[in-house]
Amino acid sequence: MVECIFCKIADREIPAEIVYEDEETVAFVDANPQAPTHILIIPRRHLPNPGAIQDADRAVIGRLFQIAAQIARDRAIQESGYRLVVNVGRGAGQTVEHLHVHLLGGREMTWPPG
Ligand code: AMP
Ligand code: ZN
Repeated sequence: MVECIFCKIADREIPAEIVYEDEETVAFVDANPQAPTHILIIPRRHLPNPGAIQDADRAVIGRLFQIAAQIARDRAIQESGYRLVVNVGRGAGQTVEHLHVHLLGGREMTWPPG
């Protein structure tokens, strides 16, 4: 078994502020928010990074983005804009090896990202 903090959040073994969940996905508030809205959307299945995605995962990966868009609508940040981020690998800032989409919004974003 993989020791994974996000698997434990999905299984409710450790607490998080869960804002959405279904059979295949969970969304929860980032513990160290980088914007007024900072939510992580994950598949329940442990996928370390996009390189682990199988054909059978394609629907759930699509769901992650649908859920992000729905949360952005619910929080009225769709008009002002929001950012969806997937950090892959240590050099890109990935610290948790369970695929997750960051939803960031509620402030101005700059480009390029750091
Ligand atoms: P990344 O650096 O892209 O791998 O993103 C990992 C994110 O997980 C960071 O933004 C952390 O703040 C967040 N994080 C780590 N542990 C927890 C936790 N227990 N609950 C909520 N968010 C967490
Ligand atoms: Zn995991």
